Amino acid sequence: LSERLNKALKNITGQGKLTEANMNDMLKEVRMSLLEADVNYNVVKEFIANVKEKALGQEVIDSINPGQMVVKIVHDEIRELLGTEDARLHFKKTGITTVMMVGLQGTGKTTASAKIARYCKDKLQKRVLLVACDVIRPAAIEQLQTLGQSIDVEVFSLGADVGAVETARQAMQYAKERQKDLVIFDTAGRLHIDQDLMNELSEMKQLVEPDELLLTVDAMTGQDIVTVAREFNEQLAITGLVVTKMDGDARGGGLLSVRTITNVPVLFVSNGEKVEDLEAFHPDRMADRILGMGDIVTLVEQAQEKLDMEVQEKTAKRMKSGIFTFNDMLDQFGQMKKMGSMQRMLGMIPGLGNMVKNLDDEKMNDSMNRSQAIIQSMTPYERENPSCLKASRKNRIAKGAGVKVMDVNRLISSLEQMQMMTKMMSSGNMPNMASLQAM
Ligand code: GDP
Ligand code: MG
Repeated sequence: LSERLNKALKNITGQGKLTEANMNDMLKEVRMSLLEADVNYNVVKEFIANVKEKALGQEVIDSINPGQMVVKIVHDEIRELLGTEDARLHFKKTGITTVMMVGLQGTGKTTASAKIARYCKDKLQKRVLLVACDVIRPAAIEQLQTLGQSIDVEVFSLGADVGAVETARQAMQYAKERQKDLVIFDTAGRLHIDQDLMNELSEMKQLVEPDELLLTVDAMTGQDIVTVAREFNEQLAITGLVVTKMDGDARGGGLLSVRTITNVPVLFVSNGEKVEDLEAFHPDRMADRILGMGDIVTLVEQAQEKLDMEVQEKTAKRMKSGIFTFNDMLDQFGQMKKMGSMQRMLGMIPGLGNMVKNLDDEKMNDSMNRSQAIIQSMTPYERENPSCLKASRKNRIAKGAGVKVMDVNRLISSLEQMQMMTKMMSSGNMPNMASLQAM
């Protein structure tokens, strides 16, 4: 009976590991949620299988249950798949940078072209030319011209009687004469993929050799976006994505599918009808939106923070009573690693930024890893009672950690220094500068 009770308790308070059984219910929920957000069925299937494999055997944090833990893992995985924060347009060092906008009709190409033009003109001080290559949809040219006027960007057009490729050719010539930095080609779309359009776009691509070929992805589209994205990518090799209509209430799961298929970054988010409504992409926010389980994610993050706090408090308490052992040192390393790059962390403190510029993060990490390995090669008794470490024990530890005895000695003396500091602090004597310099 007690064993069963124990097991049940573990399920409530965490401490256990993630297993097939305790993950399954939550993974079902996650699957439903992703499908509701319009993530493609096959993408969901593969995604869930991957997460399952990754999560299996992971420790469950205290105070949350395995299901909640799974959601956090899923969230982080989605964020990872969605890609990096700082994706940017690639500009040529010299000469004219060219951007081609492609996508199905009504997904927001023309609007996004104007938004990007405005952004590059105002924020990056580029001399921009917009080119009206949609000569098919009635009023498409006027639409771009009106937008161009409103943002004070020149629009190149030869009217609806000249083909898209010829328009592009002459636009390039014009851009050279006028010394433009950036030319954005707004192209025609169709309601569905169609080979005529693809041929026209391929021809244009060969001519303008775009530095960026951006596909607009409507956040409101559903399952069929997968076929569309694959087709565009196979025939044109797109270099980036622009997510549009993010101001709507769709959860935008289609983007996860498109990212999975194309593996190109999201450069911009278009979120409104006004030309100013353009944002950088935040994978974190997008992951929240697609998964739609933000509360659980927050809960788990808080639990993780609390856990870190508890470790800190435990160490602080021990230090106050004058104790500092290898176990405390190990806890500290763990905390430091969690906080990420030391340099970045210290750099955030006003005034310290310059001082830490030359700090070698990698070296520090290496030395922390080596120290961790040494402590992990000690027995529990040795970790708490470092004074027992004589030659034979040191030899064994050095072998176990794959380091020299000298390294073990060095770590022991850092511990002794920490102990000295702790003793001084606990007795109320703050170390003076002379003793600090000796460290
Ligand atoms: P295109 O056919 O791909 O060139 O698409 P358009 O740029 O002409 O956009 C189609 C419709 O969607 C227009 O009515 C736009 O005003 C609208 N639209 C485009 N982007 C956004 C957006 O981010 N949010 C909203 N709410 N509407 C948008
Ligand atoms: Mg258009």
